[in-house]
Amino acid sequence: MSDREEIDRSFEEMVEVLKRVPKGKKGERGWFRCPACTVGKVHWSRSSYNGHLWVACSSPDCVRVIQ
Ligand SMILES: [Zn+2]
Repeated sequence: MSDREEIDRSFEEMVEVLKRVPKGKKGERGWFRCPACTVGKVHWSRSSYNGHLWVACSSPDCVRVIQ
């Protein structure tokens, strides 16, 4: 697998995960089963300060996003 394919795959997983984060207010948080690795839990939280979204799977080397 080339580096380019690895990046594309990770990006698609990230998009899948972000689609599952409920739209909501600042300061909310929750979790759901990870669609990328299927075994991890994706914890998400929306900063009450600036509204930035933090998303991280409990599996090492899986999805991690700060928006
Ligand atoms: Zn995962």
